[in-house]
Amino acid sequence: MSEAPALHSRRPLTLRFDIPISRTHEFWDSLRAGKFVTTKCTKCGNVTFPPQSDCPRCMGSEFEWVDLGQDATLVTYTQVMTAPASFSAEGSYTVAIAGFRGGVRALAWLEGVKAEDARSGMKLRVEARSRPDGSPYYVFVRA
Ligand SMILES: [Zn+2]
Repeated sequence: MSEAPALHSRRPLTLRFDIPISRTHEFWDSLRAGKFVTTKCTKCGNVTFPPQSDCPRCMGSEFEWVDLGQDATLVTYTQVMTAPASFSAEGSYTVAIAGFRGGVRALAWLEGVKAEDARSGMKLRVEARSRPDGSPYYVFVRA
């Protein structure tokens, strides 16, 4: 019978991600202007969301930007009752996956629709928002 291993005391773990934005800044600039765009691979035509710097289908690295428009359809959703620490001030909220024409899907918070009123297939619109620090984000609202 082996003894339980000695454990080190708990300590915080800090993870740092350096995300290169040089190839995706167009998305954020467009979002600030109210447009919802993403990348389309010029080699194989694959449209991905979120924008990619390398195509997950063919590994190509040349893209063009395409406008997804504002109109989307609710695919599925979930209500988060116990928020993670970073959203603890928000209370409960609803996260949705919505599909755009062409089949691209995106995930965002669903604003202004109670979870009990949400239905797969309902028409949504994606809207740009801005945090107090000026950083943009996007939400889905009822169309
Ligand atoms: Zn490709």
